[in-house]
Amino acid sequence: MMGRPICDSQGVKVTVSVVLADSARSFDKEYTYAVPEGMQVLPGMRVLVPFGRKKGLRGGWITRLNPPKTTYALKDIAEAVDEAPLITEDLLKVAEWMRGRYLCTWHQALSVMLPSGARLVVQENGTYQKRANEKTCRAMEAAVSAEDFDALCREGAFRSLHHVHILETLLQEGLCTVSDLCLLQGVTPGMLLTLKKKGLVRELRLDVDRDPFQGRSVEPVLPPNPTEEQENAFQTLAPLLDQNGGEALIFGVTGSGKTELYLRLIEESLKKGKGAVMLVPEISLTPQTVDRFLGRFGSRVAVLHSRLSIGERYDQWRGIKNGNLDVVVGARSAIFAPLKNLGIVIIDEEHEGAYKAESTPGYDARLVARARCNISGGLLLYGSATPSLETFHRAESGTLLRVDLKQRVAGRPLPKVTLIDMKKEMQDGNRTNISNALKSRIAAVHTAKEQSILLLNRRGLSSFMLCRDCGMVLSCPHCSISLTLHQKDRCVCHYCGYLEKVPKCCPSCGSEQFIPMGMGTQKLEADLLESTQGLRVVRMDLDSTSGKDGHKKQLDLFRNGEADLLVGTQMVAKGHDFPNVTLVGILSADAMLSSGDFRSSEKTFQLLAQAAGRAGRDEKPGEVLVQAYNLDHYCLQAVIHHDYEGFYHQEIALRQQLNLPPFYHVGVVLVSSKEITDAENLIQKVYRYLRDAANFTETAPFMLSEPLPAPISQMNGRFRFRIILRHRSVRTLLSVLNILQETFSKETSGKEVHMGVDIDPGSML
Ligand code: ADP
Ligand code: ZN
Ligand code: ZN
Repeated sequence: MMGRPICDSQGVKVTVSVVLADSARSFDKEYTYAVPEGMQVLPGMRVLVPFGRKKGLRGGWITRLNPPKTTYALKDIAEAVDEAPLITEDLLKVAEWMRGRYLCTWHQALSVMLPSGARLVVQENGTYQKRANEKTCRAMEAAVSAEDFDALCREGAFRSLHHVHILETLLQEGLCTVSDLCLLQGVTPGMLLTLKKKGLVRELRLDVDRDPFQGRSVEPVLPPNPTEEQENAFQTLAPLLDQNGGEALIFGVTGSGKTELYLRLIEESLKKGKGAVMLVPEISLTPQTVDRFLGRFGSRVAVLHSRLSIGERYDQWRGIKNGNLDVVVGARSAIFAPLKNLGIVIIDEEHEGAYKAESTPGYDARLVARARCNISGGLLLYGSATPSLETFHRAESGTLLRVDLKQRVAGRPLPKVTLIDMKKEMQDGNRTNISNALKSRIAAVHTAKEQSILLLNRRGLSSFMLCRDCGMVLSCPHCSISLTLHQKDRCVCHYCGYLEKVPKCCPSCGSEQFIPMGMGTQKLEADLLESTQGLRVVRMDLDSTSGKDGHKKQLDLFRNGEADLLVGTQMVAKGHDFPNVTLVGILSADAMLSSGDFRSSEKTFQLLAQAAGRAGRDEKPGEVLVQAYNLDHYCLQAVIHHDYEGFYHQEIALRQQLNLPPFYHVGVVLVSSKEITDAENLIQKVYRYLRDAANFTETAPFMLSEPLPAPISQMNGRFRFRIILRHRSVRTLLSVLNILQETFSKETSGKEVHMGVDIDPGSML
């Protein structure tokens, strides 16, 4: 690509704006530099620049050409890193928007837009590495045998579950790339280093396997004839492709043919020479989903998800950038796919929490999509059977178009949902966690050679160790969380990975009545096997799905009919299509309702409705049994009547009454430190600051919480406190938080105490 001329006609040097990589927010400004003769630069390229009085060069990004004249003497750019821009001009504008909306730095915003293979590492001495050129990647293999590993486990040699998981995975898979390990096991390269130092793993270089489809070729598939509803929806939506910045919600029950409609709209967009991005929650980015796209769009499809190696992801990204791949299917960060000509963005299962990132920049892909479509002029489509309250509220108030798909394809009925009263079950003497009705339905379904799914609330039902004498619960020494029993004799913290052997008697009073409580999926499996002869059960939870394809293996067993019942957490409720499933059982629906988050009703409704959508997807009708104590709750009543709108009206009235989203925006300031007093002091200061700031706002009032311990009041040995503030206007909220961050950045920079800000978090827990 050609750069711009470096001098204008008068021979005056060309200037550019540069933002620094790795700068604190207080230095995060656009600085003007001169471009030396002969250097070719464009916005979106990386450069090295001298900065301040320090020796050495810093990495930076060019954000624009010829900024307004400055009065100070300009320094020259030292070196251009890239030959062509890495970031398109549209995405630069998105980054600028993100910086304001999520209070992050330019660099943080720009970095999430790149696959990690394209990131630049600048050393102190000004040398740098462009990782993208790597043809190999780091990989690990186990340096101990399976027997030695078991022996080490028995000796209690591991203090961290992550180490155990890493070795388990390596022993199963043989060889894994470092990035796969990090993504699969949620570990950091540092943990791998520890294992390497101990001689338990070996590091190798691996040629990068650069085919994310692993040689799978998919036969082209012709689209089915649309149903009447699909046709009407298409006729309504297709014209929006020609307008700038259209926005619509496809409100369609599960199995109503939404995906089919997306495919057709994407086809239409491609006909106009414009590309498409479809976001799906990571968990539903299954081979089936990908195959549907490959079958329709063949070699134009790019897939972006976290199970690709760095090299694979980089190749997909480059293919998109070159224009060779113009149908992008991916998880959250695929919203940054560098398509030049964007025609349509689809956000499937729009209500999913996974679209909100948690770490800085804590962006919400739904909002980024809006910004991106506003900037680039694509059609933005949300799809869901159970839209988020925010999105449905926008549809109700007319700011976005709503299109309904009310019927399941081929007129298949929605499953019958029945509530089971667990209070009564107790009174009748059933002390297990599965009601008699559910047990007998599972047995009947088994006899009929059909399949069932049992859904548990997260690990909410998992086992923990409780002393029957003094009531002590075994908990993590670093986090304020009880340890979960993992296999027979290990206990683990699911937040930090701390692992210990289960003590024989109570560490507090020495009693021998120190026994496991609650019910994990393992216990449930055992109970089920007892009540139904010959039942083949597969479990799918985080503990049983380690390894690159662990997840897939479990699902394949179930899909191929080699198992009769699938037990799992939320994971099983989402997106999978199992034609032979006729029964879905949901255990302890109340536990989800009382989680303490203001979205708990919304999330429960969504989860139950999605789970119900798993039953009866083929010709056979489906049935759903929901076990609960609090049968009158409006959320459960709405679920049994498949009544999203009824639920919405109740819930939105409450939100309005209580000044909650979507009527108010929420900012959370979180302070943490290893020393409890440091954290307490800072949160008190922040509180006083915010209280004063709140008093001075002339517009509508702020709602400010007291400084409180965070719901997880201790994590990884750090004490955590937070303040929640709310305001009607996100702009007012942001401006106060922005000044707060600048004011306190000196107090926290380089110190042991951290302060972070999250805007409109997905969960308050
Ligand atoms: P959703 O995304 O709303 O859950 P899908 O698009 O996955 O729905 O459709 C559900 C099932 O119905 C899929 O197996 C799909 O192949 C099939 N299907 C969708 N549209 C049609 C149609 N017009 N004719 C026949 N089958 C269809
Ligand atoms: Zn005790
Ligand atoms: Zn912990």
